[in-house]
Amino acid sequence: MIQQRKSPIAPASLAGRRTWNGEDVQEALHADQDGKCYLCENFPSVNYQIDHLRSRKNYPEKTYDWANLFLCCSYCNGRKSDGFDDIVSPCDVPCEEIFDIDLKPECKIVEISVRQPDVPGAERTRELLDRLHNGKKRGMRDFREKLFYDELRGAVLDFACCLKEYKDHETQENRAKVAELLKIDKPFLAAKLSLLRSCPALLADFRQETIWNRGQR
Ligand SMILES: [Zn+2]
Repeated sequence: MIQQRKSPIAPASLAGRRTWNGEDVQEALHADQDGKCYLCENFPSVNYQIDHLRSRKNYPEKTYDWANLFLCCSYCNGRKSDGFDDIVSPCDVPCEEIFDIDLKPECKIVEISVRQPDVPGAERTRELLDRLHNGKKRGMRDFREKLFYDELRGAVLDFACCLKEYKDHETQENRAKVAELLKIDKPFLAAKLSLLRSCPALLADFRQETIWNRGQR
């Protein structure tokens, strides 16, 4: 989960308050979020849904609120449902600085930890991310949860390989490979940043590539 940035002007169809999932809303969310789910940072392709950050059930007044709408994959949206209305607002805080998402392949878990516990909603967000990454029954993933984990694992291990190559041989070519995987339209950026944090020298080398929505685009 990384900080998000929204187009400043709400899509026109929201103004009529008749639909919150018009084509213009879908297109704007795809463009703003580079086609990625705001929770897991993977690409839902055509299986995307529009999530109400604060659910329609509990916050009906926010149903057509542009600031409340996010592109989400069906997996994350289904597990979030209306039970996590109190997570952090991804446009308001630098999510990637608040959480660490550490892959622990040796014990097949993804350790989610809070780096800034004073941020309102941080603990609830950690609970949601833990549920998404480790399953409802921690460590006993159902098939869908296993697929989710395997995709993250594959991407993070590929990134770790590129980092190692760069660490062993600091060539321009190896640097470019790492930088490519850190572009904002690539998946699982928060987990990649957490891996970089484990090596301060590497983090310093790629600081510019990890600013994402916290800087100018
Ligand atoms: Zn997702």
